[in-house]
Amino acid sequence: MLRFDLISIFPEYLAPLKLSLLGKAQEKGVISINVHDLRDQTTDAHHSVDDTPYGGGAGMVMSAVVWGDAIDQVSKNSSNVDLVILTPAGKKFDQRMAEQFSKSQQIIFACGRYEGIDARVGKYYRQQKNFRVHEVSIGDYVLGGGEVAAMVIIEATARLIPGVLGNPESLKEESHSLATDSSESLVEYPNYTKPASWRGLDVPEILLSGNHGEIAKWRRAESERRTQELETE
Ligand code: SAM
Repeated sequence: MLRFDLISIFPEYLAPLKLSLLGKAQEKGVISINVHDLRDQTTDAHHSVDDTPYGGGAGMVMSAVVWGDAIDQVSKNSSNVDLVILTPAGKKFDQRMAEQFSKSQQIIFACGRYEGIDARVGKYYRQQKNFRVHEVSIGDYVLGGGEVAAMVIIEATARLIPGVLGNPESLKEESHSLATDSSESLVEYPNYTKPASWRGLDVPEILLSGNHGEIAKWRRAESERRTQELETE
């Protein structure tokens, strides 16, 4: 079972993780998702988690002391941990990374806020033999916090775990999945459902033909066309 732990100063932000596919997967015991309040680790009256940056500059930086205590607490007794530090300066998340993460035992997400987390946190856990540290961005833009980024990664990762999707066949021809016969990554062909005609727009004839061989060829060609279009945009 893959165990996801999220550490945040806004645990309520992560409530949607109980819904839909992820909610059902937790009920089935295929994954577990545990949300932790970073402020539980603070010892001062104000429950502060941040301080001014060394070297000056705008904004506040999240404290290595508080983060270290929280991560230690959540990883107690764990021999194999992937620590994901969310940051717009990290490696870009993609389907390959989701595939890797889906094979993990425990993933801890450090959801930053303000100007981010003291850089020593990543450095320290890189030195711990039971940790693999990943600094991950979900795209080239800046969010207010890492919570939404963590939810994106969990949603993409969890659906690859056997038993999470009702029909595992759905994973086969999806966008960005690797084709079985080569290492190329294509986006999916367009999909249609009833009615066959809607507001003057008809479903492509071939899909109504019942000819599975021709349909497969058409879909493959459409996948290639869409992928190429994206690449030349
Ligand atoms: N000062 C940071 C910088 O310029 O790289 C940005 C900090 S951002 C306002 C606050 C937090 O949001 C980050 O610590 C990170 O956890 C999260 N965050 C923002 N954008 C993100 C992105 N594209 N991917 C992942 N996490 C992001």
